[in-house]
Amino acid sequence: MYSRRLAEKLPRVRETIAEAAARSGRDPARVRLVAVTKGHPMEALAAAREHGLTDVGENRLEELERKRGAMNGDEAVRWHMVGHVQGRKAPRARELAGLLHSLDSLKLARRLERTGRGGGDPLPVLIQVNTSGETAKHGFSPDGFRESLPEILGLESLRVEGLMTMAPLTDDRELLRRTFRRLRELHMEAREAVSEYRGVELSMGMSNDYDLAVEEGSTLVRLGTALFGERAQ
Ligand SMILES: *Cc1c(COP(=O)(O)O)cnc(C)c1O
Repeated sequence: MYSRRLAEKLPRVRETIAEAAARSGRDPARVRLVAVTKGHPMEALAAAREHGLTDVGENRLEELERKRGAMNGDEAVRWHMVGHVQGRKAPRARELAGLLHSLDSLKLARRLERTGRGGGDPLPVLIQVNTSGETAKHGFSPDGFRESLPEILGLESLRVEGLMTMAPLTDDRELLRRTFRRLRELHMEAREAVSEYRGVELSMGMSNDYDLAVEEGSTLVRLGTALFGERAQ
């Protein structure tokens, strides 16, 4: 079922990305598709692999761990952790995530640093910034991001690859666009102002709004529903 569904959906999703990239003069090859399999069974993951998708996302560490284990060391998969990580789970996040999209507080950054002191490769992370202004969302405020960036960049066991944002749940296309644009502006500003910041990734865009996110510069779109259909819960 998942395989057939992907065969049907994937070409259209790729087309949407290509068209949105073209509208803003971007190279569609700079937009990676992260297949968010949360809430779907292993069959969804198998179908993603069968269709050549290598970037897989989960929003809970437990589910990521379970699925990663079941993939028996499929080396081609890059595991994206896109959801909030509690401080006490920092060691698991470091072990399991190939890219942590949701570095959403200084506290978490410091916890991750403590667990990474033993050496080994730095953990690739994106700093999550709340650019929608919704108070219920995780992430740094724009001002909090500016203030915290130097400290985060100084943590040797983290490698900051860029920024991430979550758009509000709305059909207001202008509000969605502003949320994405704000993230790109913060990113450009940081590139200018902070020489140690060499981020190149902008993780933004979900099933409902990824066309706008690509127009506004997204390099990582996180798609669940658009690829796999509605989740059970
Ligand atoms: C669930 C989730 C997604 C995918 O959402 P869809 O609307 O199903 O595409 C993307 N990012 C995060 C952080 C999520 O939790």
